[in-house]
Amino acid sequence: MSVSWQRPDEAPRRVSILGATGSIGCSTLDLISRAPERYEVEALTAYSNVELLARQAKAVGAKFAVIGDADLYGELKTALAGSGVEPAAGSAAVAEAAARPSEWVMAGIVGAAGLAPTLAAVRRGAVVALANKECLVCTGELLLEEVRRSGATLLPVDSEHNAIFQVFDFERPETVEQIILTASGGPFLHTEPADLEQVTPEQAVAHPNWDMGAKISIDSATMMNKGLELIEAYRLFPIAAGKVQVLVHPQSVVHSMVAYVDGAVLAQLGAPDMRTPIAYTLAWPDRIATPAKRLDLAAVGKLTFFAPDETRFPALRLAREALAAGGSAPTVLNAANEVAVHAFLERRIGFVDIVRTVERVLERMPTQPIESLESVRDVDGQARAVAFGLTGAAGGSGRASFGA
Ligand code: NAD
Ligand code: MG
Repeated sequence: MSVSWQRPDEAPRRVSILGATGSIGCSTLDLISRAPERYEVEALTAYSNVELLARQAKAVGAKFAVIGDADLYGELKTALAGSGVEPAAGSAAVAEAAARPSEWVMAGIVGAAGLAPTLAAVRRGAVVALANKECLVCTGELLLEEVRRSGATLLPVDSEHNAIFQVFDFERPETVEQIILTASGGPFLHTEPADLEQVTPEQAVAHPNWDMGAKISIDSATMMNKGLELIEAYRLFPIAAGKVQVLVHPQSVVHSMVAYVDGAVLAQLGAPDMRTPIAYTLAWPDRIATPAKRLDLAAVGKLTFFAPDETRFPALRLAREALAAGGSAPTVLNAANEVAVHAFLERRIGFVDIVRTVERVLERMPTQPIESLESVRDVDGQARAVAFGLTGAAGGSGRASFGA
């Protein structure tokens, strides 16, 4: 079951940004700083970049700035001295930032570490712009139940889901035949499978169309990103899992499509710039101007589409299987992937080992029902421990990864 969307009387004014120093966070702040008369910033959070967080907080006059790494409190306090911005540190303070009164919250932390703060924003009924897809994948229906219980509004930031959100007929969901998620295919779309063994982190993070954080860039290269997005689409929109398809579209111009029973297909297009979908969630149900590059279709010339090769990119198959298995399987998939991507970035495993690791962790952990957020945390921790064992990481139970 998906969430429902109720339009607010007024566009939100007071905003908080979780993950302010990341790619999504910086794009969000760029939009906010262009319309200072429209938005007030309540809180900003980051994990370790004190210098950037302090600069951002002072520039927008935030009331509260939190650094996730508790050891950096002193540094943040010094950097904010005399500015009027209240400093705080540690994962509980990150969740506190989300719990402070603001009408709109950007959930822009990467990975399951964003779950506790996202939940804190959801539980007080905020409008939550959800960039953090891992939250939705690892919690199953539980996050959506919290959304329904609190009356919060979840708005999809991910460009594909934001596109679908713009063209999906929520009044007549039964008329939707298919959701078609587009995928750029990442930097290795045409790389020979044998050459994938040698791929370096530098090559893998260099996405051809989008400028993003390291983790999602690697996920795009393995196509696990599209796997996570398949699960995300199923959770967000009222549609059966088998009706979500993936189509490779290397130009990243058509951000996704909805096909209807009469044969009509509605698509949302734009230049690949996350400020467009972020702006849609900031102003929703209104629209605001953004400086994003305008789409020049004559210059693009040709748009191409083809079916994904699931033998070459097994991540998509694994995600589809995890969604079909249900219960703990998507939680395991996500946790194992986070550990494996980290291991690849640290050069402990090769590129193709990322998805191999996820598959092996899924094989070793029988699917079980997920009944509470506590069981999500337990399964996530167990999957991380198995993945750590396979990738040769030193220690780490994985529980701390939730930042709670
Ligand atoms: P990023 O790595 O650039 O930024 C991540 C942010 O999270 C940083 O501010 C970092 O300080 C913070 N963070 C990391 N670990 C943390 C922890 N343990 N506790 C508290 N804060 C922590 O990542 P990004 O590319 O901005 O992506 C953020 C999320 O948005 C991801 O879930 C990603 O899948 C999703 N997303 C990103 C894009 C994009 O274009 N970048 C597009 C669609 C979806
Ligand atoms: Mg996306």
